[in-house]
This record gives sequence, C-alpha cells and structure tokens, in this order.
Amino acid sequence: MYQLFLLEQQVRGLRTRQDAATRRLTAQKTKLGQLEQQLQEMTGQLKQVQAKAGTLETEAKSADAKIQHLRDQMNTVKNNREYSALLLEVSTLKAEKGKVEDQALAEMERVESLKKEHETLAAKVAEQVKIVHGAETEVEAAKREVGDQLDEVTAKRDDAQKELPADSLAQFRRLTVVHDGEALAAVVEESRRHMEYSCGGCYMSIPVERVNSLMMKPNDLSFCPNCGRILFMEPELKSSFAKS
Ligand SMILES: [Zn+2]
Repeated sequence: MYQLFLLEQQVRGLRTRQDAATRRLTAQKTKLGQLEQQLQEMTGQLKQVQAKAGTLETEAKSADAKIQHLRDQMNTVKNNREYSALLLEVSTLKAEKGKVEDQALAEMERVESLKKEHETLAAKVAEQVKIVHGAETEVEAAKREVGDQLDEVTAKRDDAQKELPADSLAQFRRLTVVHDGEALAAVVEESRRHMEYSCGGCYMSIPVERVNSLMMKPNDLSFCPNCGRILFMEPELKSSFAKS
C-alpha cells in the first residue's frame, strides 16, 4: 500500500510538471494574441492619420495653385474694383491655406509619434513570439522527458495496484481523489511518554489503539478517525515503537 502511495505521488508530480508547461504556453499565447490585436489596431490608426495628413497637404497645394492663378489674373485686370476683389480673395485663400497647413503639420506630428509607438509595439510582439516559441519548446521537452518516466511510473503503479485486495484498492482510489493524491498519512509521534500520536495529514490526534493495531496487524487498513486517510508508520517509528 505504501509503495502504491509513493508511485501515485510520482505519477501526480510528473503530470503536474507537464500540465504546468502547457498552462504557461496557453498564457503566453493569449498574451501574444492581445499584443497582435493591439498592433493591428495601431496599424489601422496610423493609416487613417497618414491619409488625413495626405488629404490636408493636397488641400494646401490646391489652395496654392488657386492663389497663383488669382495673382496671374491680377496682372491682367483693367480696373481697381476688380483688382481689390481679387486681392480680397487671395488674402482669404491665404488664411485658409495657413490653417490647413497647420492642421497638416499637426497630423504629420501625430504620424511620427504613432510610428514610434507602432515600432515599440511591433518589437514587443516579436519578443512575445520568441517567448511563445520558448514555451512550446518547454512543453515538448516536458512531454519528452516526463512522457517516458510517466509511462514507466504509471505501469509500476498499475502493477502495485494489482497486488492489493480489491476492497483496499477501492478505498485507496477513493481517498486519493478526496485528498488530492494524499490517500495515506504518516503517524506522527507527539509524545512517547504520554502515548500521544497524531495524523500527519490533518494533524489531529489518533488514539494509541490505532497505532497498536498498525503494529499488530500490518495488513489491515487503519484510518484516521478525523480525516479518514489510511494511516501508516514510517520504518523508524515502527522500530522504536516496537522496542518500547
Ligand atoms: Zn487525519
């Protein structure tokens, strides 16, 4: 029974290592997905701002062309009234062009700062891709290393199970599930003089009669009255108890 308990713990330990590697990989993949999503959004934003800046620059250029055209007209006009009207039109257009140029400049500045942010984020994505690859390698390694060991230990555990009577095995399996792999608990000697013993699983005291029966009938199962775990005695305690 004790042998089975140890093998069961080994099986669980190996599985935990495999599961931990898989969990890490899943978490890193999720993080990568979030970063990629952010990068995609920023790419879209950058394109929009670039397009807006482009439109504003085109507007400024076309205002420039109009102004040039009006100036050409001013050189050919015959009277003062027409000249003043054209002059007014030119100054209005100039003011508008100035505004558009300021806006275009502001957008270009936004483009530059967005490009920097985009670069930083892209570097983070690249870094995260590496982390995910590393986590994948770890999962593979855990499967390779643990896999063989796990098969081996599982086979040994299954053999150990066959050696137990069916009812004892059923108890063991039930308690393994209830206590998360800890079906057995060692008897702890609190005080030899006062004959005080406790359960190593739940730390509650055990009547000395149970310890006696463990000594007298080692093939019978003895349970902790509190948590129900199967009690066992470490070899050292067994020999020192036998002497007393
Ligand atoms: Zn207990």
